[in-house]
Amino acid sequence: MCGIIGYCGNKPAAPVVLKALKCLEYRGYDSAGIATLCDRQLLIRKDAGKIEEVNKEHGLDALPGNIAIGHTRWATHGGVTQANAHPHSDCRGRVAVVHNGIIENYQELRQELISQGHHFTSETDTEVIPHLLEDELKNGCSLEEAVLIIAPKLEGSYAFLALSLDDPGKIVGTRKNNSLVVGIDDHTYYVSSDALAFAQYTNQLITLGDSEVVILTSDKIEFLDATGN
Ligand code: GLU
Repeated sequence: MCGIIGYCGNKPAAPVVLKALKCLEYRGYDSAGIATLCDRQLLIRKDAGKIEEVNKEHGLDALPGNIAIGHTRWATHGGVTQANAHPHSDCRGRVAVVHNGIIENYQELRQELISQGHHFTSETDTEVIPHLLEDELKNGCSLEEAVLIIAPKLEGSYAFLALSLDDPGKIVGTRKNNSLVVGIDDHTYYVSSDALAFAQYTNQLITLGDSEVVILTSDKIEFLDATGN
């Protein structure tokens, strides 16, 4: 279990997220990655190794866009490889997810998704999340509606953040038995598993309750309970 971070504001997001990930290095990790949304494109760069090495090799901080999610991984399911590093995506490359924790029933969910035609590219428990979101987004749900529908299907402990081209301009996050903290600095929003990630920018914090959902956009932040209110 390591770190996740999301940023929504008016600055280029990838350098902010990269800097925040470095603040979480003290927790230990084996891989790192970032996803951004920009001009109707979802961009993902990730690999096994130290953040600085992964950045040097793949230019994480050069990813364009004002919305980004990032991850440092402590592998629990699947080896330490580029394919298993987060963010993970769906079949169409339209959803990106970073996750901390363990999805205990992932084998069952994965088999069900494969039997419905989904194609997996990693060995992680995490990858079931973007594929589950994909189905709800295809049905016309907003990203937050999709998160509210799929979260009760996940057993175990988790905090995850999602981005999607099907509902761009926002980051949606939720948690169960894992921490997720929101930081507010004027009209700039941060969300992370660890408040230290954005302590350099703000000390105005809101801790997300279990099963609550947070929606970050560039001009507002919203919180929903598990029933969508
Ligand atoms: N269980 C996930 C994995 O193995 C997430 C690990 C983490 O919390 O970093 O990729």
